[in-house]
Amino acid sequence: MKILVVNAGSSSLKYQLFDMETGEVLAKGLCERIGIDGKITHKRPGKEDYSKETELKDHKAAIELVLSLLTDPELGVVASADEIGAVGHRFAHGGEIRQSSILDDEKLAYLESIVEINPLHGPPAISGFKGCKAVMPDVVHVGVFDTSYYSSMEEKAFIYPLPYELYEKHKIRRYGFHGTSHRFVCAEACKLIGNKDAKIITCHLGNGSSITATVNGKAVDTSMGFTPNDGVPMGTRCGAIDPTVVPYIMKKEGLTPAEVEKLLNSKSGLLGVSGVSSDCRDIDAAAEAGNRRAALTNEILTHNIKKIIGSYVAEMNGVDALVFTAGIGENNKTLRQNVCRDMSYLGIKIDEEINMNGPRGEILEITAPGASVRTFVIPTNEEYMIALDTLALATK
Ligand code: ADP
Repeated sequence: MKILVVNAGSSSLKYQLFDMETGEVLAKGLCERIGIDGKITHKRPGKEDYSKETELKDHKAAIELVLSLLTDPELGVVASADEIGAVGHRFAHGGEIRQSSILDDEKLAYLESIVEINPLHGPPAISGFKGCKAVMPDVVHVGVFDTSYYSSMEEKAFIYPLPYELYEKHKIRRYGFHGTSHRFVCAEACKLIGNKDAKIITCHLGNGSSITATVNGKAVDTSMGFTPNDGVPMGTRCGAIDPTVVPYIMKKEGLTPAEVEKLLNSKSGLLGVSGVSSDCRDIDAAAEAGNRRAALTNEILTHNIKKIIGSYVAEMNGVDALVFTAGIGENNKTLRQNVCRDMSYLGIKIDEEINMNGPRGEILEITAPGASVRTFVIPTNEEYMIALDTLALATK
């Protein structure tokens, strides 16, 4: 079966078409500036990329264009849209939906009801789905939710120590994000160590970062919370801070809730501390050139990642494997080295030579000889995970 995976953002729509018999990506691309003007970039393996600026008034128009390219006699990869057996939609937030599900009216109504706790990702993901359903009404549409990996967490891990009524009234709890990525790399790590019941810590470190602890294939804790702004400091998000700092900043700086939210989400993290950039590469270059705050930014990032890893080892009473993934996790060797230094008490020790010189873009084991914890770099593949879930539900 061929499966289309769609990931709709506020003004963008990413797509990948998989042939599930071979696992091959037949085509993938990106629609940008939806609702503003519009641009599409369409890629096929071994062929020249195609790119065009064209009006995309909404997500429905974007998906119509995607389908016309996928079936185009020259640029296409299928003879007709009928060859596409199902569509998988990525949802960053599925509230308390516990697993990937066929998107029927009931699921859609629930997703619409939780837009208030997911104002950034919810509306575009829903309009991406509606647009796609209108264009492809006869195939199965599946929702894959980043949050559902965490449905296995116990209340002690997801209830905040706030008045309990706030959870009951407003559903304020830890949800966790990036679940599809953590689920994918965790499953790969279990295969690599030959133990599906293992205790695994997965570090998804990108522009947004989260760390997840999994035992026996089930997530037990994760660093992101009610929103994706908790845990590790990120490109522009602060991650975990003393919550009382927030009203204090509002008072001292005279900020509204929307303004302080912007400060915490868009002006903090690596950008806020360094004053240089939200991108690790720029921060490394500045630190190398002697910028003290850039060097401090890296120290803060390393310190916080270490703290979370340590707390999860304590929570799980051990760890069998540690995994690094996403933009920073897969590419920033120095950060991996610094995080894994001085962790031999926990059994974590990496081979610094392999870590520094091993190939990129593929699975790399960086465990030092004799270390009791296996450490890996595993490229994430959320889209393939979405395609697998979609296939399973479409062929049930
Ligand atoms: P997103 O969360 O937006 O998907 P990514 O996973 O692409 O983000 O991660 C972006 C981060 O990854 C940036 O901080 C960037 O510096 C880092 N990164 C990406 N590629 C490299 C690279 N080749 N070397 C070092 N860092 C990289």
